[in-house]
Amino acid sequence: RRALGSLGKSRAKFISAEETTGVTFDDFAGQEYIKRELQEIVRILKNDEEFQNKGIYCPKGVLLHGPPGTGKTLLAKAIAGEAGVPFFAANGTDFVEMFVGVAASRVKDLFASARSFAPSIIFIDEIDAIGSKRGGPDIGGGGAEREQGLLQILTEMDGFKVSTSQVLVIGATNRLDILDPALLRKGRFDKIVRVGLPSKDGRFAILKVHARNKYFRSEEEKDVLLQEIAELTEDFTGAELQNILNEAGILTARKDLDYIGREELLEALKRQKGTFETGQEDSTDIPEELKLRLAYREAAVAVLACHLPDPYRPIIETDIKSIRSQPNMRYAEISGRVFSRKNDYLNAIVRACGPRVIEEQMFGIDNMCWISSKATLDASRLAEFLILQTGMTAFGKAYYRNQSDLVPNLATKLEALRDEYMRFAVEKCVSVLREYHSAVETITDILLEKGEIKAEEIWDIYKKAPQIPQPAVSP
Ligand code: ADP
Repeated sequence: RRALGSLGKSRAKFISAEETTGVTFDDFAGQEYIKRELQEIVRILKNDEEFQNKGIYCPKGVLLHGPPGTGKTLLAKAIAGEAGVPFFAANGTDFVEMFVGVAASRVKDLFASARSFAPSIIFIDEIDAIGSKRGGPDIGGGGAEREQGLLQILTEMDGFKVSTSQVLVIGATNRLDILDPALLRKGRFDKIVRVGLPSKDGRFAILKVHARNKYFRSEEEKDVLLQEIAELTEDFTGAELQNILNEAGILTARKDLDYIGREELLEALKRQKGTFETGQEDSTDIPEELKLRLAYREAAVAVLACHLPDPYRPIIETDIKSIRSQPNMRYAEISGRVFSRKNDYLNAIVRACGPRVIEEQMFGIDNMCWISSKATLDASRLAEFLILQTGMTAFGKAYYRNQSDLVPNLATKLEALRDEYMRFAVEKCVSVLREYHSAVETITDILLEKGEIKAEEIWDIYKKAPQIPQPAVSP
C-alpha cells in the first residue's frame, strides 16, 4: 500500500484524504436505525466471512440526505473508520469550475486515487452541486461543465465491479429533489438513507456524546442538565448541539469554574440561538421596525390559532419581548386521549404558513426578513409528514415508514403532492388573514402597546372582529 501522502499537490487541493478517520459509530448518536442499516455495509467492506460467497449485495453508492449539520459527513467517516479503510473526500462544488474539462478530470482523479487504495471510501459532500437534474434551470451557471462532471461520475460508478475490494461512494445532499434521476438508478446511488433532525431522545444522546470529554459535577447532574437542554432544543441539529456544549465549556473556563453548570449551558443555548436569530432578548433592544414585524407575526399566529384551532394545543399567551425565528406563542399541551384527523394536520400546515404570509401581506415580498424564514420549512415538513407518515393522502395504499423507503420516482410524486398541499395551505392562510384583518390589526396594536396578550383577550377580539368575506379555498 502506498502512503496517502503520495496523492500529489494538484489533487491534494480538492481531495482530502485520510488513512484512518478514527471515527466510529459510537460518535454518531440518535437515529440508531441508521447505524444498523450501515453496519451491513461495513461488514462487507471489512470482508467479513459471513458475507463472502453468499451473494450478498453491497451497494456501490450510498446517498445520505438531510439538512446540514445532521451528521452526514460524520456517518461517512464512521463507515470508513469502522471498516478500517481510507477515506477520500471532495465537495460537489469543487467540480464546478469555469474551465472546460476540469470537472470531468477532477472526478477521474478522485476515483483513480481511491481505487489505488481500494477497498476505500469516496465521500462527495453537496453532491447536488454537480449532480442536479440535467436540463433543469442552470442556477449556478457552468451547466455544461457540471453535466460533464456528472457524466464522469456515472461512468466511473458503472465501470467498477461490485466486490469486496471495491470503492464505496457516499454522497451527501440536502436536496434529494433536484438530483438527476440517473444518479439514483440501480448500481449507482441505490441506497438512500435519510438523516433527519434528532428527536428529543436523540438530542439527549448526541449531547451525551459531546459531553464525554467535559466536566460536570456528577453523572446524575450531567444527565439532568442535558435532559433539560434536549427539551429546549427542538429543531436543533447535532452540529448545533455540539456547539452548545463547546460554548458552555468556554464560558466555564472563562469564569474559572471547575464544572459546567446549568447557567453556562443556558447561556450557551441562548448564544447558539443567537447565531441564527440575532440574539436580541430584551425588548428594549429590539429595533422598532422589527418589533412591528414581530407584533404582526404574533397577531397572525393568534388569529390563525382561533380560526383553525388545534384541539389538543390551546393557546395561552404571546408577547413581543423576545425575538426568535419561531413564533413566541405559548400553548397548553393536552395529553391523554389525543388523536388527530386529517383536517387537524391540514390546519397545522395552514397555521405554520402564518408568519410568512403576514409578512408578505404587510411588508411586501421583496421586503421580508428573517423572522418569517422558518415558516416555509415548518409548513413543508408538516406536509411531508402528512403525506409520508399518516397514509391519509392521495398516496392511498402506499405507506412509508421513512424516507429511505422512497424509490426515485416516488420522490418526484412526493414533491408534486407536497407542492399541492403547500399551495392550498398558503391560499387558505392568505384568505383567513384577509378575512380577519381587523382582528390582526387590533392584536398588533395591543402587543405594541403592552408587549403581551393573553388567550382570553385574543379570543374576545377574534369573536368580535368584523370579517371581510373571501372566496372559498378548497384542498
Ligand atoms: P453534515 O455533513 O450533515 O452537514 P456533519 O457531519 O458535518 O454534518 O456534522 C458536524 C458535526 O456535528 C459533527 O462532526 C458532529 O460533531 C456533530 N454531529 C452532528 N450530528 C451528530 C450526531 N447525530 N451525533 C453526534 N454528533 C453529531
